[in-house]
Amino acid sequence: MPAQASVDVLIIGGGQAALATAYFLRRTQLSFLLLDDQPQPGGAWQHGWDSLRLFSPATWSSIAGWQMPNPEPGYPHRDAVIDYLAQYEARYQLPIVRPVHVDSVTHDGELFVVQAGSQQWRCRALVSATGTWSKPFIPAAQPLLASNCTRRITATRRP
Ligand SMILES: Cc1cc2nc3c(=O)[nH]c(=O)nc-3n(C[C@H](O)[C@H](O)[C@H](O)COP(=O)(O)OP(=O)(O)OC[C@H]3O[C@@H](n4cnc5c(N)ncnc54)[C@H](O)[C@@H]3O)c2cc1C
Repeated sequence: MPAQASVDVLIIGGGQAALATAYFLRRTQLSFLLLDDQPQPGGAWQHGWDSLRLFSPATWSSIAGWQMPNPEPGYPHRDAVIDYLAQYEARYQLPIVRPVHVDSVTHDGELFVVQAGSQQWRCRALVSATGTWSKPFIPAAQPLLASNCTRRITATRRP
């Protein structure tokens, strides 16, 4: 994809919400593209702690079109989710450009203009599927609490 391109729909993000949206767009005649700022598939799951598991079994954790494989009994490990999302992208040949961090979105009166560094895309419709992990909500009371009472998930590797 050249640095300047136009598509019907542009999706910012490459996590599960973005992939599920792309799955349905793929069934239309619309051109679309995903821009994700992570170097690899998996969205927020790449930033969970090492022992993180889903709180629901694989059969209840799938996104549209393809059931999450269930490689082991119990609740899937974070790595199984990352594998699933990576395979999902490949299975449906979703057009994802990585890593691209979108800096701004404006509207020129006709199309959305999506800027990522020196790269620019234009689109008729825009989906923001950027999740929350990179912008955590810090409670206003945090400074009043002991330092070991609050901890950012993305800053925690173990347990
Ligand atoms: C501890 C924990 C346990 C959880 N357990 C479960 C569970 O058991 N079952 C379940 O269903 N859900 C669970 N969740 C929730 C699940 O992780 C999230 O709901 C899910 O990851 C959200 O997917 P998403 O696609 O909306 O966002 P994300 O997975 O966060 O994907 C968003 C993507 O957009 C990228 N992005 C952000 N800004 C930009 C930008 N400006 N330009 C380009 N890319 C950008 C991000 O880097 C990321 O790759 C859990 C969450 C946490 C924190």
